[in-house]
Amino acid sequence: MSAVPPSSDQPAGGREAPDPNAQASMNPGDQAPPGTPGTGEDVCPRCGGSGKQGASACPDCGGTGRVNVGIGGA
Ligand SMILES: [Zn+2]
Repeated sequence: MSAVPPSSDQPAGGREAPDPNAQASMNPGDQAPPGTPGTGEDVCPRCGGSGKQGASACPDCGGTGRVNVGIGGA
């Protein structure tokens, strides 16, 4: 009998190692990367949430109209 059990189905590799130098999708107006505890999205004060500064994308929020800012706790 040559009953060779199938080896693992799992695909090799897969997860990207976090790059400490890569600040995921942070904009100049962000005070912290998205998902940081104690922070949250707020309307960009520079463009008022429109995501635009004149004819260009707002430089603070990168055109999203939102920035990630620290939430002043209690
Ligand atoms: Zn903005």
